[in-house]
Amino acid sequence: MNIKLILGDQLTLDSPLLTEFNPASDILLMAEVSRESQAPSLVSSKMRTTLFLSAMRHFADSLNAQNLPLIYYPLTAGHPSISAAIEAALQELSNKHPDQSHSLSVVLPGDSRLLKELKSLSEKIGLKLNTLPDTHFLAETGEFKQWIGQYKQPRMEYWYRHLRKRLNILVDAKQKPEGGAWNFDKDNRKAFGKAGPPQRPIPLTFAEDAITRQVKIDMENAGLELPGNNTAFCWPVSREQALQALDDFIQHRLPLFGDYQDAMWREEPFLYHSLISSSLNLKLLDPREVITAAVEAYRQGKAPLNAVEGFVRQIAGWREYVRGLYWLRHDDWEQMNGLEHQHSLPEFYWHGETPMHCLSQSIKQVLDYGYGHHIQRLMVTGLFALLYRADPQAVHRWYLAMYVDAVAWVEIPNTIGMSQYADQGFLASKPYIASGSYIQRMSNYCSHCRFNPKKAQGEDACPFTTLYWSFIDHHQGWLQQNPRLGMQVRNWHNKATEEQQQIRERAELIFSTGASMWN
Ligand code: FAD
Ligand code: SF4
Repeated sequence: MNIKLILGDQLTLDSPLLTEFNPASDILLMAEVSRESQAPSLVSSKMRTTLFLSAMRHFADSLNAQNLPLIYYPLTAGHPSISAAIEAALQELSNKHPDQSHSLSVVLPGDSRLLKELKSLSEKIGLKLNTLPDTHFLAETGEFKQWIGQYKQPRMEYWYRHLRKRLNILVDAKQKPEGGAWNFDKDNRKAFGKAGPPQRPIPLTFAEDAITRQVKIDMENAGLELPGNNTAFCWPVSREQALQALDDFIQHRLPLFGDYQDAMWREEPFLYHSLISSSLNLKLLDPREVITAAVEAYRQGKAPLNAVEGFVRQIAGWREYVRGLYWLRHDDWEQMNGLEHQHSLPEFYWHGETPMHCLSQSIKQVLDYGYGHHIQRLMVTGLFALLYRADPQAVHRWYLAMYVDAVAWVEIPNTIGMSQYADQGFLASKPYIASGSYIQRMSNYCSHCRFNPKKAQGEDACPFTTLYWSFIDHHQGWLQQNPRLGMQVRNWHNKATEEQQQIRERAELIFSTGASMWN
């Protein structure tokens, strides 16, 4: 028998595992395994675990509805790892078909750690392993590697243009970009101003059903001790719900997506973002249909080009680019710590209790919903961890645990690369560093905070601003070589010696108290 293993983030009926399926010789296997949520390095929050397990069970229902033979091990079966589940399935099959030999097929996992685990299991027990390409992505097998080979300093923008031309996305017959430009960033990335968001559309949410309720009960019975909450469960768990969520975004939030892509506002966790990353990453949605829906909205005059192009760039550009890079560097990326940052991640990342209002808002919404939009991840939680010089592996483990859309291929490049610059520029051309003034410009958090974003020293100094200058001071050796940051090193040197000393002392106080000196 050929065991066709469907992993928890591969929930699509378009899977290559299902093409040419022969029920006489093929059997599907799905397994909920506890080690994917709670081994020390692999924590997964309550919300993320609930979503993954519920979506798996809904998908199993759709396989059953097609009468496809399936072995499904729920959490209650007690298999700690995928390997253990495969060995149990082999045992079941050998009992039923003692004379047959077996093989294992899997679509390329989204985490190279799992691929290694499967390879080592197959070697150990002499099981033939067949790895199929993941056809969910826009890039074909080998396309990224071939494309990147021509660049000394590859950038996402060129990859994005390459895919837009090849797939005819928003290009004319001569492959020139729609609207005369590849990028409408000059129209995007606005702040809200004092009046706040012009509209506050409430996104469609999905109340838990009987399957999700049972998942929660099983999680409790299994005694999983996971961070965060899952009381306000709201995420799509089936393809039908994911399509509704996409439609809701296209109708109600896409028109303002570009304008306010980078803006943040107190008590507004979702704003004009699509909230489809978990559905895409679980493969309940296909990126092609997402792009088609957005382009169609533009063609019908329902959304402007700056919004649609900005959104398409996230999917065809960033999403595909980080995946391509992940498979080039998966062996060492996760362990990188090029800036030699060693501080433990501050305790408040796990409960959100801190007087820094931007952080408490951004962290509490992650604890409650498993969600933060890109700028909250990059320029609030990620920025603070970078300026605080937190160990990038600890930061990575937090992001992988806490967000409902977190899967290694996308989380590692974004966290270790883009956010923490631990790869020293493999992904980003410069570290994303800023003082509290950036957060003040892009949000109203600072007007609800006891700190002053303009101040780097003194009792009411904003910790972001203090740590920003401390970062420049600490890393000035290589920062002054960077054409875009060298100026800030000169600005540091222009400060009076006494001011520099006060900033250093305040930064040391923040480090030595785990950023909790105000509690
Ligand atoms: P929107 O803002 O509506 O964007 C639309 C879609 O574009 C997203 O659904 C996503 O599929 C894609 N996208 C946008 N930016 C990126 C990006 N930088 N990389 C890859 N895809 C992107 N995204 C994940 O899917 N999983 C993660 O684990 C993850 N971890 C991140 C960690 C850090 C430190 C940072 C800075 C970013 C991370 N991102 C991750 C990227 C991005 O923040 C999320 O994809 C986005 O916020 C999801 O919300 P949304 O669906 O509302 O996205
Ligand atoms: Fe965050 Fe500083 Fe603004 Fe407070 S003042 S919200 S800590 S940036």
